[in-house]
Amino acid sequence: MNIFRNTKAAITPRQAAQHYGLSVEPSGMAHCIFHDDRHPSMKLNDTYFYCFSCHTHGDVIDLVAQLFHESPYDAAKRLASDFCILAAPQQKSMEARPLTQPSPTEERLCFSILMDYEQCLQQWKKAYAPTDPEEEPDERYVLACYDLPYISSLVDIWFQPDKEQQQKLAQALLQDGTLVQILKRMTNAREE
Ligand SMILES: [Zn+2]
Repeated sequence: MNIFRNTKAAITPRQAAQHYGLSVEPSGMAHCIFHDDRHPSMKLNDTYFYCFSCHTHGDVIDLVAQLFHESPYDAAKRLASDFCILAAPQQKSMEARPLTQPSPTEERLCFSILMDYEQCLQQWKKAYAPTDPEEEPDERYVLACYDLPYISSLVDIWFQPDKEQQQKLAQALLQDGTLVQILKRMTNAREE
């Protein structure tokens, strides 16, 4: 299944859209391919896309799967081949990496970052909401719309009694680089 991870890590939705002939504005806006879109309402970012009209969102593989009306697996294979992503060697080394249990401190850190990020997104969603529908939406608003439901669902896990689930989640977030990405997003946004 690492063809998914490798293609997502290597190709942004914007790169794929441009490669397959979609016209993308310098701001990253394009005509949505999930609904009949007269004005560009789909925002293409580094890791995901989001449509402000039909609210469809997803990653580079979802985008290409829709573009060619094919399965996510076929879309991943297409991307890997068109962008010369080597799935096999990396797959091996990733699978060889042993899974390490996060320490209780790491777990706490993990959830405090998630909670910070949730708060941050809630603020952005209010503070940067577009006032004019014709206006290009702020990046932070886009991110908040896209990420908030997911992040809130992760934070909820922390308040559930299931310790094992918390541990698994912390482990996954630490290992797949999600936490690092979240920290980067918060830092970038604060520097702006
Ligand atoms: Zn749409």
